[in-house]
Amino acid sequence: MKIAVLPGDGIGPEIIAQAVKVMNALRSDGFPIELEYGHLGGAGYDAAGDPFPAATEQLSKESDAVLLGAVGGYQYDNLPRPMRPEQGLLRIRKGLGLFANLRPAMVYPELVNASSLKPELVAGLNIMILRELTGDIYFGQPRGIRTLENGERQGFDTMHYSESEIRRVAHVGFKAALKRGKKLCSVDKANVLDTSMFWREIVSDVAKEYPQVELSHMYVDNAAMQLVRAPKQFDVILTGNIFGDILSDEASMLTGSIGMLPSASLDSNNKGLYEPCHGSAPDIAGKDIANPLATILSVAMMMRYTFEREDVAQRIETAVRKTLQNGLRTGDIYEAGTQKVGCAAMGDAVVASL
Ligand code: NAD
Repeated sequence: MKIAVLPGDGIGPEIIAQAVKVMNALRSDGFPIELEYGHLGGAGYDAAGDPFPAATEQLSKESDAVLLGAVGGYQYDNLPRPMRPEQGLLRIRKGLGLFANLRPAMVYPELVNASSLKPELVAGLNIMILRELTGDIYFGQPRGIRTLENGERQGFDTMHYSESEIRRVAHVGFKAALKRGKKLCSVDKANVLDTSMFWREIVSDVAKEYPQVELSHMYVDNAAMQLVRAPKQFDVILTGNIFGDILSDEASMLTGSIGMLPSASLDSNNKGLYEPCHGSAPDIAGKDIANPLATILSVAMMMRYTFEREDVAQRIETAVRKTLQNGLRTGDIYEAGTQKVGCAAMGDAVVASL
């Protein structure tokens, strides 16, 4: 299990250090885990003058999986666009062909009060948003700002999805549903957009190969409403890049804290990049107060999806759960009656539970 470890910027190195403690504990149990470090984002710019240095590209391509902290920081905000940390992120996703972005939104019983929704709406919530990551209006050409014949300026983008792009992400969705509650809701805007009508046709066709999975379709505006009205009706939500961008952020807040949410971005061979959903949190960097659980849970996703070790994934998730049951909380999930701990102490506690 060769894993490229890219701590990145801000709180990245602190939270990654906790995930590495967990992987070292697994290794001492006999797991053949091999870690190699590289730079991405601002750290890449500082080390090699490039947010996605050639050495990091090579390391990522040679590895079975990549574990990333986060990128970004105030000191890089005025760099020219190609040198900005986020470009490193976009380039590594594109370079590795990571078209399927999986974001689970789970509410732990211990954290049910952290959600902005009523406890009864979110208790036991466990949904998975699958967002297509390398197509759609974010990448479609042509795009730009032009001047029309009447002299008025106009901004424009192009939305398109090819059949192969839809098919491959739909297969990931149905396979994920098979491993979970066997329900898949495909979200689109087929009442208005031709791209969405085509999306719906292809997803319905792929569904014929998965008769065990119950397929439904929903318009994106309704999905946005249903996520805050009755989120537990969903199992897997499959959607395109722009709708997924918005819905996955909405779903993440159902759980209360962004510090708890892992993510996986997969290619067609289940090689993946695993990272917390949050950013580099420069406001709290270096203070040992960041929540490392999203990063640790990203290692669990890596075990599940790239290495197909459901047992190890569950072992890590159970250790996180136990740590919460023991009453330990970082500042972002703290409530009266629990014990506030720092980032490193939280990592140690998860290793002890493991
Ligand atoms: P952010 O997610 O970094 O922070 C938002 C808020 O959540 C902040 O108050 C932060 O302190 C808090 N927070 C985030 N993670 C936390 C954790 N693990 N524990 C406790 N609190 C946590 O988003 P932002 O402030 O909008 O962006 C900061 C930087 O991160 C920017 O440079 C942005 O471009 C970058 N960013 C990177 C990624 C990524 O690497 N995938 C994603 C989003 C933003």
